[in-house]
Amino acid sequence: MILHLDLKRTNQPYQAEIAEAMQRVAESGWYVLGKEVASFEENWAAYCGASHCLGVANGLNALELIFKAFDFPAGSEVIVPANTYIASILSVTSLGLTPIWVEPDPKTFNIDPRKIEEKITPRTKAILAVHLYGKCCDMKPIWAIARKYSLKIVEDAAQAHGATYQGHKAGNLSDAAAFSFYPTKNLGALGDAGAITTNDADLARKIASLRNYGSTIKYYNDHVGTNSRLDELQAAILNVKLKYLETENQRRRELARFYLSEIKHPDLVLPSLKTLYEDAWHLFVVRHPKREQFIDYLMENGIQATVHYPVPPHKQKAYSEYNHLSLPISEQIHNEVISLPLNPSLTDEEARHIVQVINQSVYQPHAAVGYHSRL
Ligand SMILES: *Cc1c(COP(=O)(O)O)cnc(C)c1O
Repeated sequence: MILHLDLKRTNQPYQAEIAEAMQRVAESGWYVLGKEVASFEENWAAYCGASHCLGVANGLNALELIFKAFDFPAGSEVIVPANTYIASILSVTSLGLTPIWVEPDPKTFNIDPRKIEEKITPRTKAILAVHLYGKCCDMKPIWAIARKYSLKIVEDAAQAHGATYQGHKAGNLSDAAAFSFYPTKNLGALGDAGAITTNDADLARKIASLRNYGSTIKYYNDHVGTNSRLDELQAAILNVKLKYLETENQRRRELARFYLSEIKHPDLVLPSLKTLYEDAWHLFVVRHPKREQFIDYLMENGIQATVHYPVPPHKQKAYSEYNHLSLPISEQIHNEVISLPLNPSLTDEEARHIVQVINQSVYQPHAAVGYHSRL
C-alpha cells in the first residue's frame, strides 16, 4: 500500500542528526525557551525573509496569539475563507471575534479576493489569508483592500512553508503569519510546535510576552498572557530539519509537475499552476464528482487517498450557529476533494504507479461516470 504519508520514512534520513540534537538538549539542563529556540527563531525568520520570529506551542496558538496581540474590540469581525481547515476559524472564534465567511476561487481553493470587499462592515478589523494546501493566496488585491479599509492581514501559513508569491515567501506577506510544525507539515517537528513571523517589532515584543504568561521580566506581568512556549527539544529538531526543507520542497514540486503532466482523466480536476507562485505542495488535491467511488478504486489498487477535508467548518456540529449558511462553492469542494500521496519520500516508481492506476481508471466504468463538475 502506498500510504498518504509515512512519517517514519520521511524522517528516516535525518535520524542520526535528530538523535544527536536530542541528546544535546537532554544534557543541556535547559528545556523550554532557550538557545535552541532562539536559534530556530533566527533561522526561521531568515528563511521566511521576516524580521522577527517567535516560537510557540502549536499552529492554532500561533494564530490565536496574533489575534490576542491585536486586541480588537469585542464584536469585531474577521474576514475568513469558508474553505479551510477548522483551526483557522477556531483561532477567530476562540478570541470572541466573528468570522465573516468568504467563498474560495475554485481554481486555487483559496479565498476569492473579488468577494472580500462586499463583506466589509465598520466592524471589520482583519483578513485571515489561509495559504491552503501550500499555495499562497492572491495577496495583491488583498493588500489593496486592507490598505483601503485599514485592516490587518494575518496569514495562516501552516501548510505553506517555503511557498512563494511574486518572489516573497509565505510568512512575509502580511502583518503577521502563523506556522504549524505539526509532524505532518512540510517542516514537521516530532511533536507539537508552531511559530509566528512578523516585520512589526512592537507586535513581536508583545507576542513574546503573551506566549509566556504576559511576562518579559520573570514574575512581572504586563499582559494577561497564556502559556504557549516552544520547547528546546522540538526547536533543536526543527533546526536539523530546516536544512533540508528546500530540497524536500523541490522534490514535492518535481512530483507535482509529474502528476500534472501525466495524469489524464476526464473526470478529474487537477490543481492549477500559476506562474507568479511557487507552491509548497503540502497536499496535491484533485477533485472528482464521485469521490467515494474513486477513493475505493485507488484503495483497491494499493493507493491510500485521503480527504482534506470532508466537512467545511460552517457545517461542523461544533459551529451549529453557522450551519444554516449556504456557501455552495466551499461545500462542493468539500464533497469532491481527494489528496493523492505526495511527499518527499515518495519514489519515482510509486508516483508512476499512481499515475498508471489513475489513467487506467478511465476505462473502469465504476470509477468514472459521465458527470462533470460544475466548478
Ligand atoms: C495544521 C493547521 C493548523 C493548526 O496547526 P496545529 O499545529 O495543529 O495547531 C492551522 N491551520 C491550518 C491551515 C493547518 O493546516
